[in-house]
Formats: sequence, structure tokens, C-alpha cells
Amino acid sequence: MQKKITIIGAGLVGSLSAIYLAKRGYLVNVYERRQDARKTNIYAGRSINLALSDRGWLALEKTGISADIKQIAIPMYGRQLHYADSSQAFYAYGKNDQAIYSVSRGTLNMRLLDLADAFDNVTLHFEHKAKSMDLAAGTVLIEHEGNDTLTHSDLVLCTDGAYSTGRMGMQLGMEQFNYNQFYIDCGYKELTIPAGANGSYLVEKEALHIWPRGKYMMIALPNLDGSFTCTLFFPFEGAPSFNSLQTREQVTQFFNEQFADAVAIMPELVDEYMRNHNSPLVTIKCAPWTMHDKFALMGDAAHALVPFFGQGMNCGFEDVRVFDELIDKHNENFTEVLKEYQTLRKPDADAIADMALNNFREMSELSADPMFQLQKKIEININAKYPEVWIPAYSLVTFSPQVRYSEALQRGQQQQRIMDTILQQPNISTHWDSNEIVEQAVAMLQAN
Ligand SMILES: Cc1cc2nc3c(=O)[nH]c(=O)nc-3n(C[C@H](O)[C@H](O)[C@H](O)COP(=O)(O)OP(=O)(O)OC[C@H]3O[C@@H](n4cnc5c(N)ncnc54)[C@H](O)[C@@H]3O)c2cc1C
Repeated sequence: MQKKITIIGAGLVGSLSAIYLAKRGYLVNVYERRQDARKTNIYAGRSINLALSDRGWLALEKTGISADIKQIAIPMYGRQLHYADSSQAFYAYGKNDQAIYSVSRGTLNMRLLDLADAFDNVTLHFEHKAKSMDLAAGTVLIEHEGNDTLTHSDLVLCTDGAYSTGRMGMQLGMEQFNYNQFYIDCGYKELTIPAGANGSYLVEKEALHIWPRGKYMMIALPNLDGSFTCTLFFPFEGAPSFNSLQTREQVTQFFNEQFADAVAIMPELVDEYMRNHNSPLVTIKCAPWTMHDKFALMGDAAHALVPFFGQGMNCGFEDVRVFDELIDKHNENFTEVLKEYQTLRKPDADAIADMALNNFREMSELSADPMFQLQKKIEININAKYPEVWIPAYSLVTFSPQVRYSEALQRGQQQQRIMDTILQQPNISTHWDSNEIVEQAVAMLQAN
């Protein structure tokens, strides 16, 4: 009999999972509380963009839609650092053509919705809000235009984001549900570098721009129309902070002092700063992610991450791919699929959540530090000679989807301990590229 699937939330992860499950011939109903973004243009005037990397691409490729998404993605081959004195330096992310890709969240979501909608066995219900779940009965209560209905299905995927109603349903409906939410003391605000004449890019197009300033930073990712979306990651309190910059004069003075090269190409800066929200950044961990053979949390609903590794969506897309592989492995036995999905994915999501928190320091503080840059150069050198043995942690996470996040964390920590020893050697800054250093590092790694 054709299996019936309920998906709550038609965001990035919900729409991708609808495509995967539709391809299996299941009857898929997706309930989204918002209006259809494709008709109402709810993203108008908002150009939030995300970095899509190899884990995300693998999930898109496995369901045959990566070529579609490539059309709306811009490769970024490295970090373009903008120092306080307005000088700049470019650091490649990896080898030759290795890149992460800038995609507009809205455009990507709309493209995924179109692809899901093309299946006869998928029905997208917009302005349908999940209100609660009955875990024993396996049903979800959906509200639409003031009326409530109950869904009945073989499986409920809760892909309803960081503030998930599905997760809340599990929390309320079962004993011993673990839940942890942690806000960092830094938030973010979106700003813009507009396009130049004829849609030209006013700074290097194919790079992720970073203005590292210690306790805070600004980044910028390119958009297809020539503009860049900038994100200021900034403390809420203290000086400087969102709280300390209240007036137009304070904002102008601060940006002129700290981000002078950017100010020159951000004509709307002060208006945008005053108008746009300061948003918080949260890490959410919970367990279990599944209930019986019926309910599963996926994407941000299961694991919200801070964005400093650019992995929230990538991790959610990987959830979808792994889940699909488990359906094959367990021959559509959802009890077994859900059990192994949680066993596999929970430690990986915890690992990337921790790595994402740590990476704030790497981006904002360390990326301007000469020792950090030296370490990166040494690692690239070792990797060039021993590409299978020494893979930097960033590359393991970003360009090695065959390596689990939990393994990337453990290997990254081990390599960091070795690099700490290497960097303490006298004269390391002059013989960092010697064979001796490479051989020492590899010997230490293999001795472990
Ligand atoms: C500043 C910032 C930068 C980021 N940068 C990156 C990056 O570079 N790379 C990366 O991989 N990730 C990044 N992320 C993370 C990424 O945005 C998320 O991981 C991703 O959007 C999660 O997708 P999702 O589908 O799980 O949840 P969401 O995108 O939040 O979608 C959830 C959907 O569920 C709907 N919904 C909610 N409640 C209900 C309900 N009760 N009933 C019905 N529908 C409901 C919502 O309306 C929404 O459409 C970033 C996040 C932030 C905040």
C-alpha cells in the first residue's frame, strides 16, 4: 500500500525531504504555516544568503537536482580578509576549484518548492499551521483559516525549524525528553553592499568577505544581482555593541573607524542599521529525535546551530540524505529507519554544533592573527604532500561529506594538538614549508 507521509514545515529541509520521499512514490502532504513564498514574494527586500557546501550538494545530487540549484549559486573560492587599515588578503578555502557557494535562502526555497510541486504525489498546503501532535495516535492537528483537522499518516517529519512545534509536541508528550537551548551573547544584523553600475560587483565576487575585528566581525556574501548581503555579528551588550550604538552619529563614527573600506560602498548603511532587526543566535540540542515508528525531527527542529561554520542547512540536507539511505537499508521498515537515523545523526549534529560555536573565534579573532595564518599555510603544505592523511578540520567539514561530523571533530582536535606543538618550534616562521615540518607532523599523527 502507498505510504502516507506528513511533513510539517516547507522550509529548506521540508521541501527537500518532500522531493526525496515523492521519488519513492509515497503520498506526501506538506503543511506550511506561511503563505506560498512563490506567490506572495515574502522574501522581497530581504536577501539573506547561505553558504552551500559539499554535504548540501551531495544531498541535492543524490536526488538529481544539483544542476538546478547550481544555476542560482555563486562559487566562493576563499576568504577575502579586510583588515582595519583597509588592506586586504585572500586565503583559498582548499585546493584549486574547491569552493563553497552563496545562495539566496528565498530563491533556494522557492526553487525547491517548485521541484517538489512538480510531483503529482506531493501536495503543498500553505497557511496550514501544525498546532499539536498526538504521539500515541500518530496524528497532527492542523489549523487552516480557523478550522482544525487531524492528519493521519505512516510517518510525520517535523522540519519546522528552530522553534519547532513538532519538537514541542514530543517534549510535552513524552517523559525524559532532553532539551537544551543556548543563546550566545552576540547577535546579528543584516546590511547591504549594493550592486555597482550594470549589476557589477563592487568587491571580489567569488569570495566570502570577512572584516575580522576580535569580539565582532562583518561578513559579506555575493548575490546574483551584483549586491552583497553583509552580516554584522556583534555583542548585544558592552562597548562596542548593539546597545552602545544607538544614534546615527554613533553608527557612522564606529563604521568609519572599523570598516572604512566597506562604508565607502554602503550608501544605505546608517538607514539599514537603524531599521534592521538585531537577531539572536541560538544552539539547540535535544533527544530523542524520534518517537516509535512515526515521528522524526529533522533540520533545525532537531539541531539549531550558530552560523559560524555555515553548516545549519548543510547538516539538515545531510539528515535528509542519510534518512533516505536508511529507508533502502531497512527496506522501508520505519521502526528500524528511525532508530538508526537517531543513532547516526545525533552525535554528528552535536559535533557540528560544538564546532560552529568554536568557529566564531576562528573567524572573528584568529583569522587576523599571523600565527593562525601560518598554521593554515603549514596545513595546506602538509595536505598537498599527504592529501589522504592530513585534511584540515575546515576541509573535513566543508569538502569531505564522506567523513562524519563527529569524526571531523575528533580528527580536527587531534591535528590541532599537533599544530600547537609545531608552532612552538623556534624559527617556525622561516622553515614552516620545510620537508622536516611536514614529516614531523605526519609522524605525530600516525603515532596517535
Ligand atoms: C544568520 C544565519 C546565517 C546562516 N548561514 C548559513 C550558511 O551559510 N550555511 C548553512 O548551511 N546554514 C546557514 N544557516 C542555517 C540555516 O538557515 C538553517 O539551518 C536552515 O534554514 C534550516 O532549515 P529548516 O528547513 O530546518 O528550517 P527553516 O528554514 O526554519 O524552515 C522551517 C519552516 O517551517 C515552518 N513552520 C514553523 N512552524 C510551523 C508550524 N507550526 N506549522 C507549519 N509550518 C511551520 C516555517 O514557516 C518555515 O518555513 C544560517 C542561519 C542564520 C540565522
